[in-house]
Amino acid sequence: MNKEEIVQEIEELKLKKNALILAHYYVDGDLQDVADFVGDSYALAKKAVASNKDRIVFCGVKFMGESAKLLNPDKRVFLVEKNAFCPMADMIHGSDIEEYKKQYEDLYVVTYINSTAETKAHSDVCVTSSNAVKIVKKIQAKNILLCPDKNLGYFIKSRLEDSLSEKNIIIHDGYCPVHEEFSKEVLEKAKKDHPNALVLIHPESNPSCYPLADYIGSTSGILKTARESDCQEFIIGTERGILYQLQKDSPDKKFYFTDLKQTCEDMKKLTLEKLRDCLRDDLNEVFLDEETMEKASVPLKRMLELAE
Ligand code: SF4
Repeated sequence: MNKEEIVQEIEELKLKKNALILAHYYVDGDLQDVADFVGDSYALAKKAVASNKDRIVFCGVKFMGESAKLLNPDKRVFLVEKNAFCPMADMIHGSDIEEYKKQYEDLYVVTYINSTAETKAHSDVCVTSSNAVKIVKKIQAKNILLCPDKNLGYFIKSRLEDSLSEKNIIIHDGYCPVHEEFSKEVLEKAKKDHPNALVLIHPESNPSCYPLADYIGSTSGILKTARESDCQEFIIGTERGILYQLQKDSPDKKFYFTDLKQTCEDMKKLTLEKLRDCLRDDLNEVFLDEETMEKASVPLKRMLELAE
């Protein structure tokens, strides 16, 4: 079966099963093309809530499907690939959070959306790279844990300005293996190769890159900056899958990556064939136990409220 035939089958199955297909910017371009909506974690979470379809099919890693299920307990949610995980999400567990809580009586736990449902169930609020700074600024507690990503943690801390003196920010030691590799040296080399390019990086990147960046923000923020800028060349400090949307938005602009791989292997496990099989055979449905559903949906819903 060729690509066009598989896409045709997906379109028919989507209608038949009344499904909404959501895709992250890091998955393959073919999947982005058949999706009803493509976005970053925050935008996808909002779309999942707004949907009136019977089922949601997620082209992304496991925590994304779990988040969609937490926000839509009455809908059936499916993952295109059950073995696509986010390594960073597994760098903290509920038991680690409970250990932190023993050390600080008033600890307020801020958990990046890139986390398991089990971790979310021990958290006070979730954040994404788009809304993290805005939400943390609103928190009244003195002791605040930022987890699991240490780099996003440092980024948030660097943006808290005046309110920092009243807060004790504790940062967990997790990281994204793709973004952690961006270092000052890697970006210096890219800037030397492309001296006229603006540097746009994701806050999951190593903080040594901050001084070299012209923009630090979410995947959606990087796309918006590239789209609206008068500059014609950009060095992109995030996962390579973003290139598909960057080129769609601005076909005449030039986008460069560094000498690093800049590829999330788990996101690349997803294919059109797997999406078709998932729709056709009802594969990889997301199930969460009742207690996790109840506890983990609280910080996610709080995020949606506080981000408005
Ligand atoms: S790019 Fe990094 S944070 Fe995103 S899913 Fe892959 S490993 Fe996780």
